[in-house]
Amino acid sequence: MQIENSGVGRILRQLRWVLYPRRCPFCDRVLGSVSACPDCKEELETLRRRPTFRLARERHYIKNLEGAAAPYRYAGCVRRGVLRAKFQAAPWAADELGVEMARLLFGSEVRMRGFGPEVETVPGLAIGYNCVVPVPASSRVRGYNVPERMARSVARAVGVPLEPRLLVRARSGKRQEGLSFDERLVNVSGAFCVTDPERVAGKRILLVDDVITTGATVTACTQALLAAGAESVFAVALATVELDAPRSPTEAILENSEEDF
Ligand SMILES: [Zn+2]
Repeated sequence: MQIENSGVGRILRQLRWVLYPRRCPFCDRVLGSVSACPDCKEELETLRRRPTFRLARERHYIKNLEGAAAPYRYAGCVRRGVLRAKFQAAPWAADELGVEMARLLFGSEVRMRGFGPEVETVPGLAIGYNCVVPVPASSRVRGYNVPERMARSVARAVGVPLEPRLLVRARSGKRQEGLSFDERLVNVSGAFCVTDPERVAGKRILLVDDVITTGATVTACTQALLAAGAESVFAVALATVELDAPRSPTEAILENSEEDF
């Protein structure tokens, strides 16, 4: 059925936004056709990481990655937005957070399509990466995977294919809550596997997660991708937890009780 771009498709899309008006992913306020939430603007400004979005190697476990970046600190309305996307059956919030991520990390222009936002491809970015791979969903049933929804806008901004099935969970790990750095790494090591190594070989991969805390999850994903022959992995997330000081590898980390895994 070719209704997507037909007049009927347009009407259905408009009707959807009338029945389910666009909302702010950070505070849930109805936005309608307003492009950015005036209530969250100030707080989002204070949660923006400065002077750089890059994650410091001494604060996160990202040794095997080319690098990692996240535009926000995981706190306040950003944290509430991520929790909404994860636990309140709100795939639309994950989509909105993906648009925000693409806009901030890659400078992508956002335009309204109907009443929903869509990011534009940034010329030249595709030189750096071959594909976008989301961190696979945990075993918890949700009906959608938040990093995958977010990765759609990232892939569109960069202008490379989204590969949502290349990386899967080999087994479900126990929750990371209360575990130390070392315990987390052991917990997630070998937890991911590549389904089609031929499609990974020699590729520069942009890995997408919602939140990077210690880096244990993206490190485990990277282990699997590099073992399958990927050339490099760079990870991006909407937010990151910044520990005040480097922790001892054996001390329990309590800040991350909401991490999936
Ligand atoms: Zn808001």
